Amino acid sequence: MDAHLNDIYDAVIRRNPGEPEFHQAVESLFGSLAVALGRHPEYADDALVERMCEPERQIIFRVPWADDSGRIHVNRGYRVQFSSVLGPYKGGLRFHPSVNLGIIKFLGFEQIYKNALTGLPIGGGKGGSDFDPKGRSDREVMRFCQSFMTELQRHIGEHTDVPAGDIGVGQREIGYLFGQYMRLKNAHESGVITGKGISWGGSLVRKEATGYGVAYFVSNVLESAGDSLDGKRVVVSGSGNVAIYAIEKVQQQGGIVVACSDSSGYIVTEKGIDVPLLKDIKERRRARIHTYADESGSATFVRDGSVWDVDCDVALPCATQNELDHTAAETLARNGCTIVAEGANMPVTPAGVRTLRQAGVKFGPGKAANAGGVATSALEMQQNASRDSWHFDYTDQRLESIMSDIFQRCRDTAETYGAPDDYVLGANIAGFTTVADAMCALGVV
Ligand code: NDP
Repeated sequence: MDAHLNDIYDAVIRRNPGEPEFHQAVESLFGSLAVALGRHPEYADDALVERMCEPERQIIFRVPWADDSGRIHVNRGYRVQFSSVLGPYKGGLRFHPSVNLGIIKFLGFEQIYKNALTGLPIGGGKGGSDFDPKGRSDREVMRFCQSFMTELQRHIGEHTDVPAGDIGVGQREIGYLFGQYMRLKNAHESGVITGKGISWGGSLVRKEATGYGVAYFVSNVLESAGDSLDGKRVVVSGSGNVAIYAIEKVQQQGGIVVACSDSSGYIVTEKGIDVPLLKDIKERRRARIHTYADESGSATFVRDGSVWDVDCDVALPCATQNELDHTAAETLARNGCTIVAEGANMPVTPAGVRTLRQAGVKFGPGKAANAGGVATSALEMQQNASRDSWHFDYTDQRLESIMSDIFQRCRDTAETYGAPDDYVLGANIAGFTTVADAMCALGVV
């Protein structure tokens, strides 16, 4: 980081105390920017970088709701509208007890550059709540979502801010949120939220898109070296939306996923994951991962330890932030892993990224590797705006070609800046320059 960026970074820490994940996301971007600012001195004018680090708007609100016994609970809701220079704010809602303002700001900050990389007209935002849907009945989740949307609806709209899902927010929650929005607005504005069900304004492939996109990104990395996923041993962390569809697409492309996890432990199977069984356990029954070992007859459940201890060629962290540290990175490299791609947002710690790169492991940052979800959300918005719905294969082809474009932008930008195969630098600079050029054109706002 050069002196100018260092000063801005110090100010970010001072002005946003107690938000380590947000600091980490800013530091990770700034680590790549010195060379870009060297070539483009105009980006250092008009406090452009300082403005990028300050959300346009941050909304925090009370969410009261009644559980099934009538007891009232109070959670906190957030929506951080970070940057609208490229389009309406776009980014998911996360419901998890760990959610706080710093987490939402880190996710919103990442989202700006990820969305820029897709080449589609979407700005960056993120939201959520410290509500924990785990163990709650459908009715409780519905009442929470209705209360959350009763406040959020004042701040969103198809031309303003378009939320989607994230951890803890799947199609069930999107349905309850959209239902309440419709009721309050007396209008079926399907473009206000993405991740909807197919019969009520959703897009085919949106559910699969983030995970499929990660697999497409990895295929691009391998193809650029004359290789493919065929026969590769793959380990995936998590067993939620991103993980399930990453597993599905990796296996469709000939890879074998030998392990996946949830927060209670992981399962290992040499036969590859039985995806229909995993979906039934996780999407329908919302059960714990040991159920897979109990029912598949071919997998072992490991309660303690790390999923990254399992030998693999490719590792896909698809659970949550900072879940793969430098010790896990060392283990992966020692066991012969050659590619790590982030399905989750910022799952690899900064020390983990350094360790992987020093060991020659190719690393796909989340901004690029998991951008398929938001890209397909933008395709859902296109379909909503034109009152159309596209076929699965066509939408999947669009996703595949967007992921290929993202990979090429990362690779070409890295090469242009003298750091071949450094996809972190490529993704950061390509995303940053797109946003910076728009900010220069739009004046100081
Ligand atoms: P889900 O809620 O569907 O799944 C999350 C998975 O990660 C679950 O298996 C969960 O296990 C596990 N997990 C969550 N927190 C922890 C933890 N602290 N320790 C261990 N495991 C944990 O979320 P998604 O699949 O939607 O999201 C996963 C990641 O991908 C997040 O970082 C998200 O921001 C990112 N992402 C998601 C996109 C999307 O379209 N959904 C788009 C781009 C990025 P358990 O059930 O036990 O908690």
